[in-house]
Amino acid sequence: MEHSTPEISVVIPIYNEEPNLRELLRRIAETLDAMGRSFEVIAVDDGSSDRSLDVLKGIREADPRLRIVCLARNFGQSPALYAGFAHVRGQIVAMIDADLQNPPEELPKLIAKIDEGYDFVSGYRHDRQDSFLRTVPSRVINYVVKKTTRAEFRDVGCSIKAFRRNVIDVMGRFTHRSRYLPVDVALLGVRTAEVGVAHDKRVAGTSKYGFFTLIRTTFDLVTSVTAAPLRFFGLLGWLFALVGFGVGLRVAYVRFTEGDVNQLGSVMAIVFFLFGVQMIGTGLMCEYISRIYIEVQNRPYYLVREVIE
Ligand code: UDP
Ligand code: MG
Repeated sequence: MEHSTPEISVVIPIYNEEPNLRELLRRIAETLDAMGRSFEVIAVDDGSSDRSLDVLKGIREADPRLRIVCLARNFGQSPALYAGFAHVRGQIVAMIDADLQNPPEELPKLIAKIDEGYDFVSGYRHDRQDSFLRTVPSRVINYVVKKTTRAEFRDVGCSIKAFRRNVIDVMGRFTHRSRYLPVDVALLGVRTAEVGVAHDKRVAGTSKYGFFTLIRTTFDLVTSVTAAPLRFFGLLGWLFALVGFGVGLRVAYVRFTEGDVNQLGSVMAIVFFLFGVQMIGTGLMCEYISRIYIEVQNRPYYLVREVIE
């Protein structure tokens, strides 16, 4: 029924997934209908260049529970998701990939956890069906997210997730541009649960994440959550300056005990010392830049979960 507000909103980012869409939407509808829960599906067409949008429009003719959000061009998976979130009406929001790698039949498990009282539920793939080159960057990302947010996620990249509506609303107010959804959620400190989910091989279409895109994404993630790479320069500076200072001391020692000046040593001492001082300066500058960077991200400083009065 279109006029009443659905309980559950399922958001799907779609970029050139034409061959998967019919089966995907059929399986989502079957699964949620079997649960006896009202739902809507928000399909976000992220500037597909194939016939994805036409297929979606066709499906919508038959089932108005499908709502379509079209983006002006290809923005990427994360912006597509946030665009979908801005249109949800349900009190429970789920997200899932369009490529059928996450079986829609797993959705009830996640929804059950939200019903139990969790704010955020993430799947983790217990038997991931991806190539070695695809899983290595994921491990790096898992590690970085764990270190920088102190949140224990087993599998941050698993894209079947569910949220309580207020979490989505808060995330919608974030203004930083380089967003990584699990990091945003982790920083909110919401009650989190994880459930094991099946994972299938991609049968149709191709992965949108080639090796180089993954390297870029990983670097993007690191620089968006931590200023550690910037601070590294200050550290390097101290290291060089110390080496220069050490070599200088040795040159002086040799000069006074043996009387001859080690020319190479002197030059090295000067070069290392000056370079070190330079790098300390750079590091200091980076320190300020990193602060500006963190300030302009304008993340919420704190969030009140509940006020009891
Ligand atoms: N996707 C998107 N915009 C993009 C890239 C991907 O909306 O620019 C969607 C894609 O259609 C799929 C999901 O994001 O539904 C995950 O993409 P993919 O399956 O290629 O990633 P992988 O499984 O290799 O991590
Ligand atoms: Mg996939």
